[in-house]
Amino acid sequence: MGLKPVLTKDFGTEGLRQLDAYERTGGYAGYKKALSEIKPDDLVELVKKSGLRGRGGAGFPTGNKWSFLPKGMYPRYLVCNADESEPGCFKDRYLIEESPHQVLEGILIAAFAIGCNTAFIYIRGEYLPQYEALESAIEEATAAGYIGKNVLKSGFDVDVILHRGAGAYICGEETALLTSLEGYRGEPRLKPPFPAVKGLYGKPTVVNNVETVANLPHIVVNGADWFASMGTPTGKGTRVWCMSGHVNRPGNYELENGTPIRELIMEHGGGVWKNRRLKAFQPGGASMMVLLPEHLDVGLDFDAIQKAGSLAGAGAMVVMDETTCMVDAARRYVKFFHHESCGKCTPCREGTFWMSNLFDRFEFGEARPGDVDLLLDMGYNIDGRSFCPLGDASTWFPRSVIKYFRDEFEQHIAEKGCPFRKETEAAVAVA
Ligand code: SF4
Repeated sequence: MGLKPVLTKDFGTEGLRQLDAYERTGGYAGYKKALSEIKPDDLVELVKKSGLRGRGGAGFPTGNKWSFLPKGMYPRYLVCNADESEPGCFKDRYLIEESPHQVLEGILIAAFAIGCNTAFIYIRGEYLPQYEALESAIEEATAAGYIGKNVLKSGFDVDVILHRGAGAYICGEETALLTSLEGYRGEPRLKPPFPAVKGLYGKPTVVNNVETVANLPHIVVNGADWFASMGTPTGKGTRVWCMSGHVNRPGNYELENGTPIRELIMEHGGGVWKNRRLKAFQPGGASMMVLLPEHLDVGLDFDAIQKAGSLAGAGAMVVMDETTCMVDAARRYVKFFHHESCGKCTPCREGTFWMSNLFDRFEFGEARPGDVDLLLDMGYNIDGRSFCPLGDASTWFPRSVIKYFRDEFEQHIAEKGCPFRKETEAAVAVA
């Protein structure tokens, strides 16, 4: 970690960023309760019973993930994935910045539950203020005796190591993250073996997302039934949704799972900006398939969104108004994936490059009849043939846009360029 960075932001003395303020609101009560009253195995069962599912994107049940660690194999590691890089996603940044001790307490509870004595936080390199907030929280928690040897006389030893990434989207994928944490180029590893069996430094490892661990103090204090009483049968509790795009009040919104998407966008978000119509939205960030206004009554829930034809992913709701060129939106996302492809496997490395070039043909008036089907063909040859989910996911949004907005692609071909750009330019000229 080397140099200690200068704080770029004054966190002040108020708010939950300081240990005393966090403790005054009940902070670390869950950790103390876990250490003094609950056996690690019972803690795993408690989290299983709560129904908590990972909030990083895959939605895997957290307690089950913990229980996959092979019995008797030590050391074992916990890695908190704070490499939040999905375009449209900014909830982990907010959680860390506003309540770093809550995240830290969750990590300590998880470490205790799985028998880990060294936990890591892998934070996105661009998140410098959040890195500083966590660094300060770790210092305070260490001074208070929450981190170190024989924590609160429980016999539990724990250390927390904070590590900054170097800005690669792929390091949000858990095996690439572990490879990067070990000091190598951030590339995914073949699974199996899964990290639970052979993870960091070849040892059993659990990788949990920031929001996932931030739920743990509340589950320990209030109980599994309290958490499970919220949400849907398969999506318990609440979730933080990051909303951005063409909406009046973008931001982070914590809502009970199952809340209709309409409520998030139209009530909490204040509706589509500039009194325009809603054209489409993405419920899970850049990777996820587009949905339409007819899907507004779908619940904010992993399974309901999947049934509607998309995925909840990292919980990033991107709103698009009627002036959005869907072809250009897909083009920009494909360029992002091409840029972030690690280059390890051919379908993704070459496929995202060629998809990006083909999208440029639509944008710049060079697309030919048959190019829409060529795009689809490329997508089918990347999805399911790539080494990791980045390649697969690079095709999901563009293919869903072709499914719902094929006429816009045809219009680009017929009019030799982007019709939306011409409309915007004409409007600007008149103004
Ligand atoms: Fe790398 Fe893309 Fe292959 Fe994943 S799918 S290993 S990001 S080249």
